[in-house]
Amino acid sequence: MLGKYENFLKEFDSELQRYFLKEKEFIKCRKGCTDCCSAGEYPMSRLEAEYLMYGFVKLPKETKALIRKNIEELKMTKKTFDGERFLYKCPFLIEDACALYERRGTVCRTFGLAYLKQDGTIKLPNCANLGLNYAQNFDSSTGEVLLSDPIKKELTIDNILRGELAEKYELECGEIRPLIEWF
Ligand code: SF4
Repeated sequence: MLGKYENFLKEFDSELQRYFLKEKEFIKCRKGCTDCCSAGEYPMSRLEAEYLMYGFVKLPKETKALIRKNIEELKMTKKTFDGERFLYKCPFLIEDACALYERRGTVCRTFGLAYLKQDGTIKLPNCANLGLNYAQNFDSSTGEVLLSDPIKKELTIDNILRGELAEKYELECGEIRPLIEWF
């Protein structure tokens, strides 16, 4: 299944490259920006979590130790959390970079893009509020989004992993959970 997933990722990444090219006037993503990995749930399927962990075992010993420490600390914090959504810094974010960039989840690959949702509204990346991607198309006082030709594909994990492309590669991704719940 991991081989099928890698083939799926090649095609999915090409699709995303086309989207990033189309949207380039709105995109401020740059190396060292960690906003997308600093407070989220990072939903991942069983297959994606497995793919990440195959990469994890090959990381240098020191990096693995840092990630293990991050995971243990997060699990402790989560035990005492009683809010609705547990948002956290991704444990794989090490020195302001993804330690498993090539193996990151499908949702991670869409970070930074805005897209049209099924209800007709536009989903903006969080960094629009920080003056980054799509900030010039967004009025934070009214919540109004001005985008004349948004990406017309809802880039949620369900749509990605249960959509046409996933069917083409006969992916069986399994259950989807927030990343921290895989540990
Ligand atoms: S896996 Fe990597 S890209 Fe995805 S949220 Fe974590 S640090 Fe960011």
